[in-house]
Formats: sequence, C-alpha cells, structure tokens
Amino acid sequence: MIETRPKIELRDVTLRYQSPDTETLAMMGVSFSVSPGEFVSIVGPSGCGKSTSLSLIAGLEQPSAGEVLIDGAPVRRPDGTVGYMLQHDHLFEWRDVLENLMIGPEVMGLPRQPAKELARDLMNRYGLAGFEHHHPSELSGGMRQRVALIRTLVTQPDVVLLDEPFSALDFQTRLSVRDEVAMILRAERKTAILVTHDIPEAIAMSNRVIALSGRPGRVRSEYTITWAAGEVRPLDAHEQPEFQDYYDEIWEALGGSDFN
Ligand code: ADP
Repeated sequence: MIETRPKIELRDVTLRYQSPDTETLAMMGVSFSVSPGEFVSIVGPSGCGKSTSLSLIAGLEQPSAGEVLIDGAPVRRPDGTVGYMLQHDHLFEWRDVLENLMIGPEVMGLPRQPAKELARDLMNRYGLAGFEHHHPSELSGGMRQRVALIRTLVTQPDVVLLDEPFSALDFQTRLSVRDEVAMILRAERKTAILVTHDIPEAIAMSNRVIALSGRPGRVRSEYTITWAAGEVRPLDAHEQPEFQDYYDEIWEALGGSDFN
C-alpha cells in the first residue's frame, strides 16, 4: 500500500511568545506538511519563525492556535519520534566517541547493549570505524558533525530536525558535510527538516523548499526540487542546469537583497 498520510503536518499554526512585559507574534497561520522520507528545508529572514517551527514539531513549544501533528496525532511533548541536530555539536570532550553516542539512549533509558551495537554499526557504515575510543578534539570538524548526526540516529527517531547544523563550519567542510548528512538521511530513510539561511544549501539538499515571510512568519511559497538528471547528490546539485533558476526564484521570493 502506498502511504499517503503526511509524516508531519502544521495546520494553520500561530505562535505567540509571551513574557511578563512583551508578546512576540513569531508565526501566523502557517500550514505545511512533510511526507514520510521527504527532506524539506525552511528558509526565510532572521526571526521569521524557522527555529520555532522545529520547536513545535519537537514538542518543545505548543501552538497558540492551530495544530501540529506527527503521524496524524497532535504533538504534546518531546518524545523519541523526533531527533535534533544543532549548530554546535555539543560533544562531550571527556567522553570518547562511542560514549558520546550513548548519551541519547542513556537519557531515554534504552537498553545499553543494543544501542551500543547500533552505534557501532552506524559508525562502521558511515566512515567512523576505528574511532570509537577517540575523543572529540581528535576529530575533524566534518567528522564531529557526522558523530553528532549518528548520535541523533542512535535513538532511532523517524524524524530528524536540523537547525543550521553547518553554519559553524568553513566553506569546504560545509559542502562535504552537507552532502554526507543528506546521503546518510536518505540511506536511513528519515523524514528531515532543515532550517537554513543558505538558499544554495536548501536547494542542494532538499526535495522541497518552503520560504517563510518576515515576522510574523507565513508560508510565502514552496518549491519542489527535481532534477532532469534524476536523483542528484548535494555535491553535484550546483552543476545541474536547473540550479540557478531555483536559486533566482527563491531569492526573489525572499525579497532579494533585503533577505537577511
Ligand atoms: P528564526 O529561526 O527564523 O531566526 P525564531 O523562530 O528563532 O526565528 O524566532 C522567531 C521570533 O520569536 C523572533 O522574533 C525571536 O526573537 C522570537 N523568539 C524566539 N524564541 C523566543 C522565546 N523563547 N521567547 C520569546 N521570543 C522568542
């Protein structure tokens, strides 16, 4: 049977942050859905609610109005369905790589042995074999990001949220790490949402790009990214003839030079 139900759905979501003396309307009437296994990027100006969208999907915030659903059920609190990958890898230097990978399973109270086997298996599959007992400072920036992604995968989430995870990396590393991350998420068949300021990054990695307007964030437009060449890995996306057109369209939708 072909699965048609969205994995993630935001229905007319509004979010107001309240504090004793201020109220910030972060997003208003936002609706979008993400299919199982799809990779979607959210782009838009600073402060338009990109990170807030991820917090809602992760159950860290509740909408002021509207609904956030995963597998058709409202998200009430954080649970193991959703994994997060952030800008800083937050690896603990006093733990070796394998023990860093065990943090999620420890926090969630998962049985240690199977989690450790899965961690080793993911390390072997994704180019980290032999680094189990290295410490984070002994790894390159790219390897650290791979460890951070694997740490997210060890708890076996269906959905992986990526909040600007490459913005601290230098340009060359960034190109290869985004390629590796996208290829790992494809191989693991995860549903993924990336928040980024970087339009080329969004185009290169995604099946679809959602552009939000300035605050309060609303969906301005959506772009389905397809290539005449078929499935294209992020490192090769820039060479595709369609790339520049996608870039120009999204850049323009975001207000061109006013963006950011
Ligand atoms: P983006 O990721 O697009 O830069 P955010 O989702 O982080 O935007 O924030 C959207 C708006 O909500 C911003 O104006 C931000 O200052 C505000 N905001 C974010 N988090 C909070 C919070 N916890 N309390 C109050 N305001 C917040």
